Amino acid sequence: MLSNHFQNGIETAKLAWSRLPNTEDGEGDEVVGVSRKNDGGRVESLDYEVVENHAYREEQAQRGKLYVGYYVGVKWFFALLIGVGTGLAAVFINISVENFAGWKFSLTFSVIQKSYVAGFLLYILINLVLVFSSAFIITNFAPAAAGSGIPEIKGYLNGVDTHGILLFRTLIGKIFGSIGSVGGGLALGKEGPLVHTGACIASLLGQGGSTKYHLSSRWLQFFNSDRDRRDLVTCGCAAGVAAAFRAPVGGVLFALEEVTSWWRSQLMWRVFFTSAIVAVVVRTAMGWCKSGKCGHFGSGGFIIWDISGGQEDYSFEELLPMAFIGVIGGLLGALFNQLTRYITYWRRNYLHKKGNRFKIIEVCLISVITSVISFGLPLFRKCSPCPEADPSFPIECPRPPGMYGNYVNFYCGKDKEYNDLATIFFNTQDDAIRNLFSAKTIHEYSAQSLLTFLVMFYTLAVVTFGTAVPAGQFVPGIMIGSTYGRLVGMFVVSFYKKLNIEEGTYALLGAASFLGGSMRMTVSLCVIMVEITNNLKLLPLIMLVLLISKAVGDAFNEGLYEEQARLRGIPLLESRPKYEMRKMQAKEACGNQKVVYFPRVIKVADVVSSLKSNNHNGFPVIDHTRSGETLVIGLVLRSHLLVLLQSKVDFQHSPLPCDTGGGSLPIRHNFSEFVKPASSKGISIHDIHLGPDDLEMYIDLAPFVNRSPYIVPEDMSLTKVYNLFRQLGLRHIFVVPRASRVIGMITRKDLLIEETEDPATVELQSTSV
Ligand code: ATP
Ligand code: MG
Repeated sequence: MLSNHFQNGIETAKLAWSRLPNTEDGEGDEVVGVSRKNDGGRVESLDYEVVENHAYREEQAQRGKLYVGYYVGVKWFFALLIGVGTGLAAVFINISVENFAGWKFSLTFSVIQKSYVAGFLLYILINLVLVFSSAFIITNFAPAAAGSGIPEIKGYLNGVDTHGILLFRTLIGKIFGSIGSVGGGLALGKEGPLVHTGACIASLLGQGGSTKYHLSSRWLQFFNSDRDRRDLVTCGCAAGVAAAFRAPVGGVLFALEEVTSWWRSQLMWRVFFTSAIVAVVVRTAMGWCKSGKCGHFGSGGFIIWDISGGQEDYSFEELLPMAFIGVIGGLLGALFNQLTRYITYWRRNYLHKKGNRFKIIEVCLISVITSVISFGLPLFRKCSPCPEADPSFPIECPRPPGMYGNYVNFYCGKDKEYNDLATIFFNTQDDAIRNLFSAKTIHEYSAQSLLTFLVMFYTLAVVTFGTAVPAGQFVPGIMIGSTYGRLVGMFVVSFYKKLNIEEGTYALLGAASFLGGSMRMTVSLCVIMVEITNNLKLLPLIMLVLLISKAVGDAFNEGLYEEQARLRGIPLLESRPKYEMRKMQAKEACGNQKVVYFPRVIKVADVVSSLKSNNHNGFPVIDHTRSGETLVIGLVLRSHLLVLLQSKVDFQHSPLPCDTGGGSLPIRHNFSEFVKPASSKGISIHDIHLGPDDLEMYIDLAPFVNRSPYIVPEDMSLTKVYNLFRQLGLRHIFVVPRASRVIGMITRKDLLIEETEDPATVELQSTSV
């Protein structure tokens, strides 16, 4: 197996491997193929590999130790900026959602006092306006901001770029779209979108701002390779979770467990740092808002369901019902994934093909149905008297009209009464969850109300998923899970009367089980649940239900994000190759296509016609030795060829190599000229206009080829090729016939070079794996 790190010593060996017969038309071409990946259509692979062309090597040679310090320092500074940016975005989204929702509930409550019908219509109308604004933004301005964005970011960190996911307009669409969709009371959350928001902020910072909207700065344009941006986007994802749940460690683990495909210890520190910054920013903002400066956004504004006053201990008898919760979580989670898969498939192939108008009408219809259900169903419930206030955990019942109440009075005539279904349905999601998790009182909710809510909310969450608005699945998942958890808790309380059991504990376990059953995360989810509830004592129980729910869910289908990634045509490479690959060889994956390659010196017209005739992104470049043998000298990327064609500076009149006179290769380009902007298709061959004189010129590709592409023998097992591809984040692999000779051997000890390697190269290269 060959690697970039070994380049100097064994490059010659690699080239010897790839001897080609001297043929012009490719007949008998011995490069068997370029290994195939699944074609995702609108997705494009990223170049995470170090392109070791002449410009890169020259640049590396000029860099000293000082540069490494500077490079690392800037990376840390960017990690800080990502933390601050994501934290502020999260605060902004939360303040806006709480204010819109608070204002909506206050207004509805005050109108209800006079007329139910008017209150009902007003409630529907406000929700409709908010949801419409969100859908309008998404369909007309930022289509890539629909959904949670996590499958796309997962794909990005796996090596495939979905067009438009990290653009400035996507960021804006995500922020304002989430405010509308969450504030409008749909059965979705703002946490997934916050992960996407963090990733967008990171990517935009990484490319120095948005050039399209003239919001860029040359000072920030420091990280220009896909590799560097990958690290920043990882920081952004962790920052998003840290901000959404105020769970910094959960954020780091989420990035590690769920979204990234490559991980290094240096990255862990930076991600940890970013998450810590987010925690500080969010905490500071909340402290500032406590004094009422942020309108309806008060202490309950951010997700934090502190149930530390809950159940202190658990007894052996409880483990069985808790395991049962895990099983329900696995079953309902897997069912959720399956149903959303069918609905998403149907939407994409039928409904959403009809145009934006249908997308908007669909969301608006779902909004009206959600409003009618959440307002209408509580009307059928009787009011209950408020429980006695516990001095150590005082509950005012009902609190003043508005969103802060633990208990919602709704239409109850008397002051000291509440409507249990309205308390969870006719409330902001954060308050509803806090109510479901509440531990100090028992039987606040009737089984009938919980069951009604479970069925209705589950159905709404399934139907809302995949509509044209930003939507996260964490909070709906927590609501669904805590409802059946609490239901189980109620039965356990009445069964084991003597034990000190609290329903809130079961609600929490239910929430963990549903998320585990649907998203199939374990460690990160466990830590997030502990961080948001601030109850470390329940850790073993959360672990138990998560393990059970994941195992049960895995028996039926894949996790939610993997399923969605597949539906969206994102060719994710999972961590493990498929079993059948063991019996297959590399050459079998290449297909029957003839390899399209370029000679070292080629006529410009030939480059243009070749680039126009296919969509490949990488091409072998061949040269001839003095004795007439053909050698593969490396790989040239389409994007680099386009830069060369556009700049024209390397065009020459002579068909001879540019260093024929014995001199070295000319450097007319900075390495940075070869980078393409993040999440964008870059220039196309059709955008480049060359005159007849230009087309008659020649170009020597030698300085621009990646001289150490990865090369595998044709009979290498596909499992090995897969692991190489996945572990190194590759885009292309050359498949060649068996090597004819070996010029050396490297063992582990040969790689333990002390103090001789240029640290600049070590740091820069280490980012590629
Ligand atoms: P990317 O995201 O990089 O575009 P892709 O799978 O779309 O990935 P393509 O370049 O379109 O890549 O390749 C499609 C198929 O063509 C693959 O099966 C690959 O094996 C083959 N292929 C790629 N490059 C060449 C080439 N230069 N000559 C011949 N076949 C190639
Ligand atoms: Mg392609």
